[in-house]
Amino acid sequence: MVDGSDGKRRYTEDDIGIFVTMVRDDGTYVEAEIVRVFCPVCGEEFIGTKRDAGGFIAGHRAYHEHENMSDLIAESMGGV
Ligand SMILES: [Zn+2]
Repeated sequence: MVDGSDGKRRYTEDDIGIFVTMVRDDGTYVEAEIVRVFCPVCGEEFIGTKRDAGGFIAGHRAYHEHENMSDLIAESMGGV
């Protein structure tokens, strides 16, 4: 675990599987497990709480859907 210069915690590989309680602006996270997830599309990885991992996954899904959509539109207009 690393404390950033802004006072926020950063999680590293060493922290996977640990449970942390943290107070944030949006609420207190009690015994939040630190997990590692990766995006099956581009392979990027994320280490953090499940809540943040969910945001990572949802964000990648939205991004890659957008990418695919842009490709499809480009194809329908006569190719890239
Ligand atoms: Zn991705």
